[in-house]
Amino acid sequence: MDLDRHDFELDDLVEKIRANDNRLVALQVPEGLKMQALEMMDSIEDESDAKVILAADPCYGACDLVHDKMKMMGVELVAHMGHSQMNIDSGMPTHFIPVTYDGDPELAAVLPLLESHRAIAQSRLESSGEDADIDKEAAKERFLDAVGRVSPLTGARLGLVGSIQHLHLLEDFKSRLEMAGFDVEIPVGGDRLTFPGQVLGCNYSGDDPSIGHYMFLGSGDFHPIGLVLHTGKPLAMLDPYSGDATEMSLERIERILRQRFGLINSVDEAQTFGILIGEKPGQMRRNLAIRMKRLLEKHGRKGYLLALDHVSPDLIDFYPVDAYVNTACPRIAIDDSVRYAKPLITPYELEVALGEKKWETGYQFDEIP
Ligand code: SF4
Repeated sequence: MDLDRHDFELDDLVEKIRANDNRLVALQVPEGLKMQALEMMDSIEDESDAKVILAADPCYGACDLVHDKMKMMGVELVAHMGHSQMNIDSGMPTHFIPVTYDGDPELAAVLPLLESHRAIAQSRLESSGEDADIDKEAAKERFLDAVGRVSPLTGARLGLVGSIQHLHLLEDFKSRLEMAGFDVEIPVGGDRLTFPGQVLGCNYSGDDPSIGHYMFLGSGDFHPIGLVLHTGKPLAMLDPYSGDATEMSLERIERILRQRFGLINSVDEAQTFGILIGEKPGQMRRNLAIRMKRLLEKHGRKGYLLALDHVSPDLIDFYPVDAYVNTACPRIAIDDSVRYAKPLITPYELEVALGEKKWETGYQFDEIP
């Protein structure tokens, strides 16, 4: 990672610490920036009267705000880097720093992909309404084809989204894409999303039926996988770090969906389930977990509620249950299920396994609103 091209906004942070006369602050940084954390701590301590504690546990999102333990240590302010505030309150004064990157990739590289995706969206739009009488076999085929799922479109616009580090580019890219002949929308999501065009691994609430395909400004495939699983729409990626243009391959999405199908089938006979509740403030879905327990009881199965801060195989594999339902971060079941010795499924997948929901109308991505 080219750190010189990232804006850590340390001057603003130091100014705030000085203005508040804070004496003890905590720094919470995502895994990719941990190596640079000590340098940042030096810089804050040199420029202010505060001592800095690094919250050194893993941190993957703004869902994971440090709270009571830091309060108990006497921390007055938390500086949280790399994410933006979501609709939760940690109970601690928290200063969010998005850590923007100044890369500005060439649009030309991604245009052929966008043109082919627009053609797919337009043909789907034209065939909207033909799905009403679909039979079970055809529906199954649709389900296994992320783009062909049964979700009505009212338009074929290009949805322009990005990860937090690159959101400042969106308005400019919107103009460039419009010059290139695209009808562009920067989707605005729900309360969990702070900025227009923002996506999280667990929330794509800005999607709407007028959007037929997506362009993602960012790196890695974490957000693109979630967005395509959630929407079933084609997606092109433009990476501001490398300038590379790629697309989320449908084969990849189909592989994930087949794996999810396999897991749903594998819990058919399961009698006992561990129901995981995330303790992190932005992952805690206690009511959903209790609803899953009641649902299992209704079907003559047993569910045990297990609360954890970090969910990992070594913390749950040994319990004598047949399978797990995860209500913590939705991506644990999707991205990490192969790491677990027993089937790990989402609440929706449990409902399908128990016959409460049908898969014919498409896979439902587990989202935190
Ligand atoms: S719940 Fe998971 S996907 Fe959502 S912000 Fe937290 S770590 Fe990311």
